[in-house]
Amino acid sequence: MSEDRRIALVTGGSRGIGRAVCVRLARMGMRVGINFVSRPEAAEETLRLVREAGSEGFLAPFDVADTVAVQDRIKAILDQEGRIDVLINNAGITRDGLMARMAEADWDAVLNTNLKSAFLCSKAVMRTMMKQKWGRIIHIASVVGCMGNAGQVNYAAAKAGLTGLAKSMARELASRGVTVNCIAPGFIVTDMTAALPAEVQDSLKAQIPLGMLGTPDDVAAAVAFLASEDSRYITGQTLHVNGGMFMP
Ligand code: NDP
Repeated sequence: MSEDRRIALVTGGSRGIGRAVCVRLARMGMRVGINFVSRPEAAEETLRLVREAGSEGFLAPFDVADTVAVQDRIKAILDQEGRIDVLINNAGITRDGLMARMAEADWDAVLNTNLKSAFLCSKAVMRTMMKQKWGRIIHIASVVGCMGNAGQVNYAAAKAGLTGLAKSMARELASRGVTVNCIAPGFIVTDMTAALPAEVQDSLKAQIPLGMLGTPDDVAAAVAFLASEDSRYITGQTLHVNGGMFMP
C-alpha cells in the first residue's frame, strides 16, 4: 500500500511534539487521527494544520490511561476507517518531585499515562496490523529514561519502560511485518518544557553539543522516517534526537 493511503493515530496529537508529528505524517499523505484528552480547541487547530498540509484527519478524544476508553475508541476508529497502519504513542505528562516527597498518586498517574497507555493502545491496534502484515508502532520515550533525572523517578521509569516494551513487542511482531521502535527526544521546546526557568534552559543548552534546544519538528522528522517504508529493516531500536546531549 502506498504511504498516501495510510491511516495514522497519534496520541497527544493536540499540542507540542504530537501536533508536529500529525502535520508531518499528513505531509506524507497519511490520514491522521488526532488524540487528545482535555483541549479540544488545540486538537481542532492541529486538524486545521493537517488539512493545510494537504491531507485529512479526524479527532479522537480519549484518555490513553483509561483501559475501557482506549478499547472502545480504537475499536470505533477501526470500524470507521477499516485500518490503522501507524500508531504513535506520544501522549505524556510530568508530575515532578524528589522521590522522598513523591506521592504515590503522582507515580501512578505518570506510569499510567506514559507507559501503560502504550501497552493499551498498541494492544488495541496490533491484531489489525498483524492481519495487514504491515504496521509501524513508535513510542515517544525520553533521554531521561536513559540518563535518569533527579526529580523525575516516575517519568524516567515510565520512559525506560517504553524501551523494554518496544524491544519485546518488536520480537513478537517482526514476523508479521510490524516494526516497533522508540524515539528518545532530548529537551524540546513545548508546553512541557516552557515552564523551565531561563537559567535552567541556559544550563541545559550548555550540556548540548549542538548548543540549542530541539523543536517538535526535529522529533517529527525522525518519526516520519520510522513510520515510512524506508525504515523497514529497523525494529526494536531507540533513535535519540537530543542534539548530542546523550550518546549511548
Ligand atoms: P505537551 O505537554 O506539549 O503535550 C502533551 C500532549 O499529550 C497533549 O496533546 C495532551 O493532550 C496529551 N495528553 C496528556 N495526557 C493525556 C491523556 N491522558 N490522554 C490523551 N492525551 C493526553 O507535551 P510534549 O509535546 O512536550 O511531549 C510529547 C511527548 O514527548 C511526551 O510523551 C513527552 O514525555 C515526550 N518528551 C518530551 C520532551 C520535551 O522536551 N518536550 C522530551 C522528551 C520526551 P491535551 O492537549 O488534550 O491536554
